[in-house]
Order: sequence, then C-alpha cells, then structure tokens
Amino acid sequence: MNLFTAFINNYFIMLPSNLEDVKTAWAIDHLDVIEKLRTDSEGGLSSAESARRLNIAGPNKIESGKKISPLVILINQFVSPFVLLLAIAAGLSFFFKEWLDGIAIIVVIVINAVVGFLMEFQAERSMDALRKLTTVPARVMRNGKLVEVPSEDLVPGDILFVEGGDMITADARLIKTSQLQTDESALTGESLPVEKNITSLPSDIQLAERTNMLYKGTFVAKGNGYAVVVNTGMSTELGSIAKMVQQAKQAATPLEKKIQSFSKKLIWITVALVIIVFIAGVLNGHELVAMLETSIALAVAAIPEGLPIVATLALAFGMLRMARHHVIVKKLSSVETLGGTNVICTDKTGTLTQNKIQTSFIQVNSSASRIDVDIPNISIRWHDDESITGHEAFEHLLRVAALCNTASYQYENNIEKESGDPLEVGLLKMVYASGKSVEEYRHQFTKADEIPFSSETKVMATLHLNSDQNYYIAAKGAVEELLAHCTSVLEGNDIIPFTEEKKKQWLMSAENRAQSGLRMLAFAFRNTNEKEKDLLHHLTLAGVIGFIDPLRPEISAAIEECKSAGIKVVMITGDHPATAKNIAQQLGLANQDDEVIHGRSMKPYKDLSEEDKNEWLKASVFARVNPGQKLDLVTLFQEKKMVVGMTGDGVNDAPALKKADIGIAMGLRGTQVAQEVADMILKDDAFSSIVLAIKQGRTIFDNIRKFVIFLLSCNLSELLIIATASIMNLHFQLFPLQILFINLVTDVLPALALGVTKSAPHIMQRRPYSSNIAIIDKKRWTAIFVYSAIISITTISAVLSSHEWLHSAERWNSELCNNILFYTLIFSQILHVFNMSFEKGVSFFKTEIFRNKYVWIAVAACILLTMFSYWIIPVRKVLVVTMYSWLDWAIVITASFISLILIQLSKKMNWMI
Ligand code: ATP
Repeated sequence: MNLFTAFINNYFIMLPSNLEDVKTAWAIDHLDVIEKLRTDSEGGLSSAESARRLNIAGPNKIESGKKISPLVILINQFVSPFVLLLAIAAGLSFFFKEWLDGIAIIVVIVINAVVGFLMEFQAERSMDALRKLTTVPARVMRNGKLVEVPSEDLVPGDILFVEGGDMITADARLIKTSQLQTDESALTGESLPVEKNITSLPSDIQLAERTNMLYKGTFVAKGNGYAVVVNTGMSTELGSIAKMVQQAKQAATPLEKKIQSFSKKLIWITVALVIIVFIAGVLNGHELVAMLETSIALAVAAIPEGLPIVATLALAFGMLRMARHHVIVKKLSSVETLGGTNVICTDKTGTLTQNKIQTSFIQVNSSASRIDVDIPNISIRWHDDESITGHEAFEHLLRVAALCNTASYQYENNIEKESGDPLEVGLLKMVYASGKSVEEYRHQFTKADEIPFSSETKVMATLHLNSDQNYYIAAKGAVEELLAHCTSVLEGNDIIPFTEEKKKQWLMSAENRAQSGLRMLAFAFRNTNEKEKDLLHHLTLAGVIGFIDPLRPEISAAIEECKSAGIKVVMITGDHPATAKNIAQQLGLANQDDEVIHGRSMKPYKDLSEEDKNEWLKASVFARVNPGQKLDLVTLFQEKKMVVGMTGDGVNDAPALKKADIGIAMGLRGTQVAQEVADMILKDDAFSSIVLAIKQGRTIFDNIRKFVIFLLSCNLSELLIIATASIMNLHFQLFPLQILFINLVTDVLPALALGVTKSAPHIMQRRPYSSNIAIIDKKRWTAIFVYSAIISITTISAVLSSHEWLHSAERWNSELCNNILFYTLIFSQILHVFNMSFEKGVSFFKTEIFRNKYVWIAVAACILLTMFSYWIIPVRKVLVVTMYSWLDWAIVITASFISLILIQLSKKMNWMI
C-alpha cells in the first residue's frame, strides 16, 4: 500500500460505506470487523478520529418523539374554553360598540396566554433539565486508555467495555467475553439472559440468536466483555423500531388527573350558578346585554383554568428542588407517590453506612488481631498480635486480597486514586500498607478466569496462571458461604483437613466479631495444574478479615424523623445477621431483643402463612437476603396497602425496584440498570436523601392543596358577591373587567407563591397521606365555602356600612359603592393568602406562609398593580374607578383586615382547618 492510499484509507473513509461492509457483523469474524472499521482492538480510536466520525455519524441517540415546540405551547394557550368564553365576551363588547371593554378583554386574553405560556414552557424546560441529569455514560478505549464518555459520543469503531449492570448504548460486535450474559428482553421479549461469545454466525440468523452481538437498549446481566461498535443512534436495531421507545408525552400523573376531573366538575357548578345569576338579573329588570356580559365574565372568573398547569409546575419545581439536594426524580408522578410513602426498605452498605470500608481485624490460624491501616507510612498497626505477619496464611491472605479483586487503588503524592467496590478497595489498601505491590501480584499471577461476585452466591473466585504454568485459585466471600466450599485449612505451613468441629469454631468466632458490627469475609485458595471450570471446591481456608464501615452521621436523626412521620424503616441487607443487628441497634432501628429475619428462613411468598406474614411485617431487619426475597417483601407490603420505597443497586434488584411504588437506585454505586428502572436516583446514595424527598413530596402535595383552596375560595367569593347583588337586586355590582383584573392580577401571583412554599413546620410529624386521598375533601370544601362567605359578607358589609355611617345619601352613588366593593375584595383576597397555613398550634407570624418571601413579593406586586389601576387614568377608565376619599380607603382596608381576622379566628377556634 503506498502512502497515498494509506492516507486516503485512514482519513477519508466514508463511514456509510464502511458500515455497509459490517451490516451483518455477526457473520463476519471479529478481527475482520475491526479491520473493516479501521480501529484497534487494544487501543481503540484516537480522540481526533472519534470526533471526526461523530461529525459524520451524528450523536448516538434515539430521536425522541415529537418535542413540543415553544410555538405549539403558545398556540395551545389560545385553544381553551376559557379563551373561547373571553373571545365571545370581546365580540359582544365590540358588537355593542363598547370599544374600551373589547380591547381590554383582548389584552386580558394576551396576558393570560403569556402567563400560561411562560409557566408551561418553564415546566417543559425543567423536565428537559432533569432528563439530561439521567443520561448514561459508556466506557470505551480511546487513545489506548479505558475512559468514560457520554454514550451520545459513541461512534462506529469505538471499542466498548461493558460489565454486569451496564446498559448497552450502541449496537456492537463482541471481540472478547468473560462469562458475559445479557438481558435482551427490551428488544426481543425474551426474559431469560442470553449467553454471549465471539463465534461468527450465519448471516440469516434472527436477532434473538445473534449471540456475538450487543444491542442498544439491552443490558448486561453478568460477566464482562469488549465489543466494537458497528451502529449508533437511529441506525441501531432500537433506532429502527424507535416508535417503540419514542417517549410518549408523559401521561398525566394521578394528581394532575384528579385536578383535571375536579376542574371539570367545577365548570358545571359554575355554569349552573351563572344561569341562576343571569335569570335573577333579567327578572330584576337589568339589561339583557349587561347581564350576558356579566355572566360570561363570571363564568371566566370562576373557572380555575390555571389549576392543571400550576400543579404540573409545582411538581416540576419540586423535582428541580430535589435535584439540588442530590435526588433525581424521574417521573412527575413519583413526586406525589413520595408524599404517601409509609415504608422504606433500605439496604445498609453505602446507604446507612459511608461505604468507606476499612480492614480492621485479621485472623489466621488461631491468631487474631485488630489492625489499623496506615497508608502514608505504608504500615499496618497490629493491636494484639503482630506475629501474624510471619504466618504463611497471611501471605495467602494478601495474595487472594490482591488477585480476587477487580478494584484499583493508587497512592501517589499524598493523593489516593481508587475505583471499584469499596470493600475491594479496602483490601488493596491493606495490601499496599503491608508493603506488597498489588501490580506485582497481578503480574506474577495473570488472570485466566473469574466467577464474579454476586449477591446470590455471596462469593467471588478467580483463576490465575503463574510463570511455572501452574494455576492458583483465589476465592473470597461471606464466611459461612465460603467455608462450605473449603475442605482444608492452612495451619502453620501445613494444609490440614477441615473437621466439622474446626469449621464450627471458625464460624463461631466470625459470628462473635460480626456481633460487634464487623463485616466478616473469608479468604481461601487452591493450587492446581489444570485450568478448571468449577473453581469453588476443595478450597483451603487462609483466614478471615473483618471490616468496619462507619455509619453516616446524619442517619439516626433521619430515622427518628421517619418514626415521627409514621414511616416504617426496614433494613434489608446481604450482610450477616449479627452485623446487621449491631448496626440497626446503633441507628435506633432495632432493640436488643428484636429478631432479625434470616434470608435462609424466608419461605417463598406463595408458601407464607398469615403468621409468617405477620412476623415479616413486625421485623425491621432482614439479613442475608437475596434480591428475589426483596421482591417478596415489596409484594407483602403492597398486599397490606402500604406505599413502599425500596432501594437497590444491582441488576438483580431491578424487579424489586420496578415493583416498589418508589424504586430508589443509588447514583454512586448503583448499576446503570438499577438506575434505568428506578423512579428515583440518589446521587449521594444517602438514606437521609430519601427522607428529604419524602418531605418534599408531602410539601408539594400540601402546596397544591393550598393554592387550590386559595383560588377556589377567591373565585367563590366573587361568585357569591355577584349572585347576592343580582338576586337581592342591590344597586351595585362588580363589572366583568374588574373580575378579570382580580383574577389575573390579585389571584395568580399569590397562588404561584403558594406553589413554592417551603415545608410546614410539622410536616414530618403527620401520618403519610393515603394514596386515594382527595385534594379537596369534605373538610376542605366546607372551609372554602366558609372562607368565601366571610370574604363576600365583609366586602358587601363594607359598602353598606360606608353608606350608613360615612356618607350622606347624595354622595352615595352606585359607582362609589362599586369601587369600595372592588377594592375591598381585592385587598381581602390578597390578605387571604396568609390564611393558607393549616397547621395547628403555629403562631400566625411563624407559619410557612408568613415566612415565604415569594408570598411577600407577590403581595407587594399585587398592591402595586392595584394602585396603578387607581393612578393610571386609562386603566382607571377601563375599570370604571373614580377618585375617592381617605375615609373610603380606610373602610376598604379595615374591612379587608376584618375578613382576615374573622377567618383566623375561625381557624383558631378550630371551627375550620
Ligand atoms: P447491603 O445489601 O446492605 O448493601 P451487603 O453489601 O453486605 O449489604 P451484598 O453486597 O449482597 O450485601 O453482600 C453480601 C455478602 O457477600 C457480604 O456480607 C459479604 O460477606 C460478601 N461480599 C460482599 N462483597 C463481596 C465481594 N466483593 N467479594 C466477595 N464477597 C463479598
């Protein structure tokens, strides 16, 4: 090949034609695929080349369904019964040559559309921002190094590395596998994991049988492997059936549905009332046209058009607020489920503990010692028996710790670099501190096979080949599990058979240590000259190591908070019962005489008697539990009508996470699969974040209730005033434009501020909400009626009393009366926002509403806008406002405060919520 062709080949390959060559990559030898895609199986692509290919192939993502454009959002604002009613009102005004009214109504339509647009646009943007937080990374070889890149940057030719729990983010041809199994149910419907290898296959084989390929959208159930990416984005199999996954517009959440159906009911009630007012008005001799306009404006005023979107906005805001506290909630509906959660099933390691696992105890032969690992001084401090370092078993312990281990650890220039399972990192630190080199061990004993650790087997084993061409099996795992595979023990320099008695002694001493909170792990080995498949038999025990994992300091308080909030906390761990109990006791989760339920004694769900179920329901610690049993626990709690939050991190936790009402995955140590199926991701893995999210969920539900009550009582007070004036044939009435002004100016801003109120002081001392709770129950309906009655009575009384006491009959004209009515109603409604705290025993000045700065901003803005209506002449004309005296203003203000005081009194006397 001359230089020119090499240059052309390397730099001007047209990607599409190359991709055509590997269209049936499963039928082509993996080395040929690598060559055709001009990549390197060891080093991968260079950054420059991957950038170039990304330019040609485009980002690796499935185009999501129709994205709602801002224009569509804007147009949608004009397509509603609300606007239709207003348009009719404007039409009527123009028809009767009421130009000012007509224009004012058009202005109202536009303002309303803009507010609606801004709110909906903001909600969409919040959702977008949240979606971005949950994108999946991929690990690829770039410039000869394994690096993590956003999966959107994958290109054909990238060498991808995947392992248990990873989502597969592109279609790729396997080039190297180690016990790799994938779950392709998302693509093929087949729920059993598929074994993968690199053998070429016939070209006409079905997708489900292409065992040498990885497909985007599926995930790795077990093992690991390298593969060369052949297709990305819409060119993948998933892309070609993209309709299946195109994100449908998120379905309305139960809360939004409740609000929608409730708004519909309200429309009918309003229509009925409007008809009554209309007929009464006409019967009382009012002009037909005036009554028609009043009725339409009234209908518009009373219909809580903004409710559904304000609910969505409150939910979306809540999600963003949680994101700031490291909690990613993936679905709007989860926010409300959180508010109702009454049992949290949590794992222990990393959630309740810090997951900073340190070795703190070693036992070989009959010698045992507590230890401290001192990294900077590269030394191990022996508290009890330093002679352990001289035992041959100790050397095996170190070797197994270094070899049967997939983590990495480096200490350079006082900086620690670590990755992988914290327990394994803890082991590498111990090896480092003992003065040995992990690299040297790994170099001397190259890895030939591996049985990865799984929560089911609770053991891990690796097979290594040394320079003498002999094999060495290294195994570690839960003490009772690994001991079951050991037939001998290393004592002194001799391997002696394991008697039952000896085994019992080892188990007993490990259990004693576990009772003091140590996590115990056994270490075993075997020399062999054959490359065996089954590694776990006839092992020789080298010794055990105990680990400590400090508790997270904030957990005890969070658990206390759960208790007072009526939330049951259950610890479900894979660890030893004694260790679990010790930790549960330290956290205040269990008492000395509480029973820990052992996974081994848990019957399958279908065989459970009522008695067994009760025992499970009573317990708060479950140990040595496998992921299947987690699913059973969720089933039981749900059968008892409890709303369950369940944490999980592994692939096998996925079913339980899916089934739980709130599946909670761990951001730091969770697998991608767990994060994919979960409803919520804890970026910091901390239990206290779950409690925080529950608190937020409750707060959001509370806030939605607050603004629904506020808006409805304001609207109803307007309805009552107009109806009273009409039915009693009073000589003053509210004008349509005044009603619109009140609804647009004085109702919306405080309602929005209510939507972002912080938690009420005792929110975590209430019982959880039941899942079928109504937003507005009987108690709240009564409150709405009473509040609006108080507001309308004080408002009408203000007008009547001003006539009685302050004005001579000549000055008493209907315009002035109307103005007093109008402004008293405005100020009463503005002040009414302070009635929206429903917690008993909290002083008025300490409520969450009084302390909400947005409420104060809204109140100030409303007052200012109201004063503009008085000062600016054209607006004053539209609203039919006249100038009047300070005395009249005094009446307005006094009456508004009287309405506030009366409502506060009714609350203080416990007549109202
Ligand atoms: P939790 O479920 O609360 O996170 P856990 O981390 O102890 O608890 P698992 O990860 O399922 O639960 O571990 C179960 C047991 O398996 C542990 O108690 C330990 O004895 C053993 N074990 C844990 N990690 C490893 C590992 N990397 N290699 C070998 N054995 C392990």
